[in-house]
Amino acid sequence: MKFVGAHVSASGGVENAPLNAMKIGAKAFALFTKNQRQWVAKPLTQESIDAFKKNLEKSGIAPKHVLPHDSYLINLGHPEIEKLEKSREAFIDELVRCEQLGLDKLNFHPGSHLVKIPKKDPEYEEKLIEAELHCLDVIAASMNLAIASTKNSKVKLVIENTAGQGSNLGYKFEHLAHIIDKIEDKSRVGVCIDTCHMFTAGYDIRTKEVYDETWKSFDRIVGREYLMGMHINDSKPKLGSRVDRHASLGQGEIGWDAFRFIMNDSRMDDIPLILETIDESLWPEEIKALYALQEK
Ligand SMILES: [Zn+2]
Ligand SMILES: [Zn+2]
Repeated sequence: MKFVGAHVSASGGVENAPLNAMKIGAKAFALFTKNQRQWVAKPLTQESIDAFKKNLEKSGIAPKHVLPHDSYLINLGHPEIEKLEKSREAFIDELVRCEQLGLDKLNFHPGSHLVKIPKKDPEYEEKLIEAELHCLDVIAASMNLAIASTKNSKVKLVIENTAGQGSNLGYKFEHLAHIIDKIEDKSRVGVCIDTCHMFTAGYDIRTKEVYDETWKSFDRIVGREYLMGMHINDSKPKLGSRVDRHASLGQGEIGWDAFRFIMNDSRMDDIPLILETIDESLWPEEIKALYALQEK
């Protein structure tokens, strides 16, 4: 079975997110558990936690189909120690908030190395790969630290693939595999694949043939058991452009076929499939349209 929803607003309190999901006919949703553009947030109040759980039950959406997204400020691979520590602290706080809400996943972008290597440098390629590998190790270390600091928690750290814009890592399946390989407690790690990011990072999914090829390489390099969520977005930029711009379904470069393949692929059963498309007013229709693609 497929569980489709969208990244809904939690403004006015996290407890509003399940209600917002209900309004659009969602069977899954994503949310920020705090303002995604601020470092510090007040702890969740018991009132808010209780109301969230009550509303979630009312919505009929299972906790495992909720995919909280962390703050955009966090960079678990930051090259400066002070900023890295700030990120690690904020990330642990996000994990605690998920746990408090009775949720079992936290979706995050791996991180960026922020190293500027001049393109004309004769060792550009080598230096870039070195910066990337080092950063992936720092990210894995941050994750191990976060897991160790939340020992009794069941919240999984769900790494999102990226478009590879700027120095963002996670645009290759090998990056995800490299990080997972270094995680000590693999029961606490998972992956979320964003279709727009996948596509602009160079993985084509527009025909059945290339779709199958892309997922075969995901299964081989990362492992399908790690797929714990997806972001369902069309893409404004072209294949391999390494630019992150979401589009409404069918209005970008990817097109409906890819979404039909997803809706009929058992890999995506029982995990949250989350729209982050740019026009919220289309979400109810987009959810219906995705379900209508299922071949019985
Ligand atoms: Zn994301
Ligand atoms: Zn994106």
